[in-house]
Amino acid sequence: MLGADDSGKHRASMTATTRLTALRLWPIAVLCLALLAALGWLVHEQTRARAFADLHERGQNTLSLAESSLRGQLARFERLPSLLADQRVIRSLLLSPRNTDLILAANFYLRDTAELLGASDLYVMYSDGETLAASNFDQPHSFVGGNFAFRPYFFDAMAKGEGRFFALGTTSNKRGYYFGAPIDVAGQRRGVLVIKIDVDEIEQAWASEEVRILVTDPEDIIFLSNRPDWLFHSFGALTPERRARTEATRRYANAELGVLDYRMTQESHGFNLLQGPGNAVDASEYLVVKSAMPDAEWTVQVLLPTRAARLQAVTALGMGLLGFGICALAGLVIWQRRRQLAVRLAMQQAAKDDLERRVIERTQQLRSANAALRDEVSERRAAEAQLRQTQSELVQAGKLAALGQMSAALSHEFNQPLGAARNYAENAQVLLDRGRTEEARGNVERIIGMIDRMTRISRHLRNFARKPNQQLRAVALADSVLAAQEFLDWRLAKQGVTLQVELGPVPPMVIGGPVRLQQVLVNLISNAIDAVEDSPDKLLELRATHDGANVRVTLRDHGPGVPDAVQPRIFDPFFSTKEVGKGLGLGLSISYNILRDFGGESMVRNHPDGGAEFPLVLQAAVAGAQAAE
Ligand code: ADP
Repeated sequence: MLGADDSGKHRASMTATTRLTALRLWPIAVLCLALLAALGWLVHEQTRARAFADLHERGQNTLSLAESSLRGQLARFERLPSLLADQRVIRSLLLSPRNTDLILAANFYLRDTAELLGASDLYVMYSDGETLAASNFDQPHSFVGGNFAFRPYFFDAMAKGEGRFFALGTTSNKRGYYFGAPIDVAGQRRGVLVIKIDVDEIEQAWASEEVRILVTDPEDIIFLSNRPDWLFHSFGALTPERRARTEATRRYANAELGVLDYRMTQESHGFNLLQGPGNAVDASEYLVVKSAMPDAEWTVQVLLPTRAARLQAVTALGMGLLGFGICALAGLVIWQRRRQLAVRLAMQQAAKDDLERRVIERTQQLRSANAALRDEVSERRAAEAQLRQTQSELVQAGKLAALGQMSAALSHEFNQPLGAARNYAENAQVLLDRGRTEEARGNVERIIGMIDRMTRISRHLRNFARKPNQQLRAVALADSVLAAQEFLDWRLAKQGVTLQVELGPVPPMVIGGPVRLQQVLVNLISNAIDAVEDSPDKLLELRATHDGANVRVTLRDHGPGVPDAVQPRIFDPFFSTKEVGKGLGLGLSISYNILRDFGGESMVRNHPDGGAEFPLVLQAAVAGAQAAE
């Protein structure tokens, strides 16, 4: 695992890298912002241009409708004055302008005709401008008697044969459009017939909440509009000259003229704008679509508020920015995630590298430890081989020592029968000389018995002295016991010791070597014989029992037992409590090692009723071929 220290260092280095990256990212961020601003501006401009173009198209449609309705209205009355001027009742009146009957007749005629045509007023002016008869002769503001020679429709008609004029009636104070046609009688121009039409109807047809439709005169003064608030207001300052020109025709009679605080501009895409005080979003800006009506010297204008179009552009910009913001945020989140992932992966990689490094180190250590272990094992093996060698030499030495120890006793054991055998032989000679062959035979048989006994002893000694082979076989315990017993018979007999053997109903078979097993038994039994030397009870008990996979063999004596302090050491080599010359201290040590070689063990304890007890554990073997050593 990555150590806390390492991971801290790693994190610190990652933070430094991040800071460096952030520093490098600054100019890019500024560039991105500039690009974003440019893009935003472009989106805004494009959307506004498109919205303005739509607005302009709508304005054009409205304008052409307004213009055609205006033209249609005027066209309806255009030809009428000249037709009416040709009427007899009119012409008669101009021949006798003071004739009251004719005036009355003309008045009635004009009133009826005006009603019929739907005109606001119809009147006849004499060549000096005086009104002779009028359709409103019976109204409070009758034109009759009024002189309107100053009106262009009069003098234009008198001079050019046709007069048109838009004005506020000086008498009626009502706006109207005037058509004037000359009245020629007998080749002489005697007066003008005027028809005034009402413009209210036109304005009503233009009614619109949103769009302003207005008509301006040559002086740029609004005289027709679907909204009354701007009526009689001019665009641009009313200079004294402009005022004077308007005054001359008394176009607007006594009406108060105003000036609109708006100025005409042109925006980047060529659309005409009318900008008032305040800002565009407060509806004080209009897109202007206009068309001139040269006949009447008018200009028809349609004003459309730009507020919605501008809002649309701002909304598009907002949406764009929002979209960009969302994308940027998503991008940022993805970037952040990727960065975190990269950091995590880097940390994992570092942890992996660290782990690999540790594994390599550890493997190296293990390898050298293994090599050291191998060396140690081979050293131990060599030591063990050495030990085994030493041990077997010790065993042999022990045996030879035992033989040496025994030699005195053995010479006695052999000399006695030899002496006896000699006596028997000599006796046999005498008996044969005397012809007592039966007695001589008896002597010979005794001699043979003695020779057999000596042969057995020597055979055991030979076996005992021989180096055993190391192979383990199934061994009949009874055979080894018997051999040991025979080997020690002379000692048992000499010291009056009884060896009681109980091997159970089925004689046990154990794993081992017969000679070595015999050697163990000889060692134990000789120790026991030594132990009971001064004891009144010279009984030794050898018992064997089956215990599962093992055979337990116990030798008990009735001697003094083994003192507790001595017990842990009696299996040590050269440990002996016997006087010099009597004990080498090798017997139990050799026996212990032999049993260990057999896969068994040996112990010592004192019997609760007195005496020492040596329980041996041997591996049980199935009865079969007996091994020979
Ligand atoms: P040695 O017999 O030459 O002394 P052993 O290894 O056979 O060597 O025995 C070691 C010692 O164990 C003996 O000196 C003796 O003190 C003690 N020992 C062995 N067998 C007995 C026994 N049956 N009773 C008491 N002591 C014993």
